Amino acid sequence: MQQLLQPINAPDKTLNKLKILGLNTLWDLLLHVPLRYEDLTKVYKVCEASAGMQVQVEGEVVSCDIMQTRTPQLHVKISDSNGIIILVFFHFYPSYKTQYQIGKRIRAFGEIKLDFHGNKTIIHPKIQSVSTTTELPQSFTPIYSTTNGLTQNTLHKLIKPVLSNSIIPEILAPDILKQYNLIPLDYAVNILHHLTAEQFNQGMHKVALKRLKFDELLVQQLILRNAYVHKHQGESVILKPRATHTKALLNDLAFSLTKAQTRVLAEIYIDIAKPTQMNRLLQGDVGSGKTIVATLAMLVAVENGYQACIVAPTEILAEQHYIKTKNLLQKLGLNVVWLSGSLKASEKQEVYTKIKENRAQIVIGTHAVLQKKVEFYNLALVVIDEQHRFGVEQRLVLQSKGKNPHQLMMSATPIPRTLAMSYYADLDLSIIDELPPGRTPIKTLLVNNKRRHEVLEFIKSHNQQVYWVCPLIDESDTLELESAVNTFNELTKSLAPIKIGLIHGRLKTVEKTNIMHLFQQGEIQVLVATTVIEVGVDVPNASIMVIEHSERMGLSQLHQLRGRVGRGNIESQCILLYQNPLGEIAKQRLKAIFENADGYKIAHEDLLIRGPGEILGSRQSGLPLLRFANLEEDLDLLNNAKTVAIDLLEHNPELAKFYTKLWYSSKEHFISV
Ligand code: ADP
Ligand code: MG
Repeated sequence: MQQLLQPINAPDKTLNKLKILGLNTLWDLLLHVPLRYEDLTKVYKVCEASAGMQVQVEGEVVSCDIMQTRTPQLHVKISDSNGIIILVFFHFYPSYKTQYQIGKRIRAFGEIKLDFHGNKTIIHPKIQSVSTTTELPQSFTPIYSTTNGLTQNTLHKLIKPVLSNSIIPEILAPDILKQYNLIPLDYAVNILHHLTAEQFNQGMHKVALKRLKFDELLVQQLILRNAYVHKHQGESVILKPRATHTKALLNDLAFSLTKAQTRVLAEIYIDIAKPTQMNRLLQGDVGSGKTIVATLAMLVAVENGYQACIVAPTEILAEQHYIKTKNLLQKLGLNVVWLSGSLKASEKQEVYTKIKENRAQIVIGTHAVLQKKVEFYNLALVVIDEQHRFGVEQRLVLQSKGKNPHQLMMSATPIPRTLAMSYYADLDLSIIDELPPGRTPIKTLLVNNKRRHEVLEFIKSHNQQVYWVCPLIDESDTLELESAVNTFNELTKSLAPIKIGLIHGRLKTVEKTNIMHLFQQGEIQVLVATTVIEVGVDVPNASIMVIEHSERMGLSQLHQLRGRVGRGNIESQCILLYQNPLGEIAKQRLKAIFENADGYKIAHEDLLIRGPGEILGSRQSGLPLLRFANLEEDLDLLNNAKTVAIDLLEHNPELAKFYTKLWYSSKEHFISV
């Protein structure tokens, strides 16, 4: 079996081409299955071949002439005893007369087309010279994906001996094969490279491909499950709810938790009461109420005499957490501290000391919490908001600030279940799948920018608070700022005397905070913003969201932005201004956001529009993307692969390890966290 890990044996020039295709080992060659097949196993009579069919015909050359059309064409007529077909070539060698000598017997393969006169033709067919006794191939001719300078023939010659000389390992026991309706791997690989007409008619190529899909998903699950097990090895403190603070907080809340919040909280409680580390991803649509869940989780740490912290990717977001949490927890006599890069050095020092001496039980902040100088007394729980905005290394740094602190990661970018199961299988997943009651649905309007004045009239006649978002332009801060400033000036003029504010990424933290406060208190009615407000901001009174150049924004970004309104009890509007002409993808996105309110449905649409690679962003670079399986169609396979992976790791970890290496030997860097 080890033999399949050996490098391919070929001249350097070929090896370099193979490398382009990602082919390094003999195993890689086996997995390089054909893109499609050509059926050269039978010969059609010319009279049976009709337009549109891909067929092979055989006959004798009856004429061979150059047609002096605009560009010269070579027409070769061949005849079987049933009819005549014209082979058309736009490129041909000067030696064509000998190549297609009258009376010569040839086979031609290609798609039948009719010319102006209704004659059957094949344009640039595949040609083979034959005699009446030349045998037909037994199996379909595989067509492999390739690269410039690497012929089908070369690939064929490389793959063939590996197929016949190798022992292909079987990782699945016979009962598993039976249970999941799978064929042996050896058989599957052979079918795919060597498909007979009979197998094709029975659909065996699909059955064979299913096996490869399964194994691909299996290996992915093995990798992730391994990471999962690894992460749960560290010993962590046991945190059990003590009902002291928790009860007080729940009594004090203006609302009661939704069923979904209660459920995910119970999942978290079970995890943190174990002596092993929690690694949980909490997903919930925008506004589903993740923060209070995190706060309650942190309270358990505090009740047990430990510290907890929450980090958020932006100042605005972190500060909102701070203000809310402090309001809730100070009453309980707890010490909540704030830590951000914008604090004065002396203030920071004071906070550091508090944290170190356990005079701060809950720490809330930005990346500043990651600083080396921040030393905790006994950190037991870490909450990471908007986890996708933090890198692997940053998460590791946080980890190191306690003794395997439990980790709760939060994400407001819902991703489809299949993707989550597939790519986040190293984490446990909690999903808040309902919004708090009493929210009025947001009305979404698509408005051509030409009708911008109507939007302004609408704002004037409705005494409501408005976010007006300007998009990122060509990844350029400067242009983004410019467009926001222009919009600010425009609105100040045309909406006077309405109070307009402007917030963007270049402002100092205090300035941002001030503006957010003014907006929160209703002193500013229209807030012009760059996309800095994308995540997490919570101003329940704001009920109109205007998004400029919505055609430039991604689906999840649009959804996030829209989620900033619809939080109070006034009916909210999201006005998407767009500028023609719209590209195809922009059209699809706007249609999707217009038709769907549910983040998961939108995520699903996004998956269809963009594919998994782009949705997962940096995460995906750590994990090989799927080649065979398709998460849209193969959910059942994924579920089964997961079950098998867990079992295999437990009962045959060595085999699991070997098999993973086989699949990804040349991509060692995958998945570390
Ligand atoms: P997100 O999940 O987007 O982070 P938040 O935690 O900011 O959402 O919650 C959005 C708003 O909903 C907040 O104002 C919060 O106080 C409120 N909220 C949370 N849970 C409930 C609930 N069960 N009932 C009513 N309002 C709630
Ligand atoms: Mg949030």
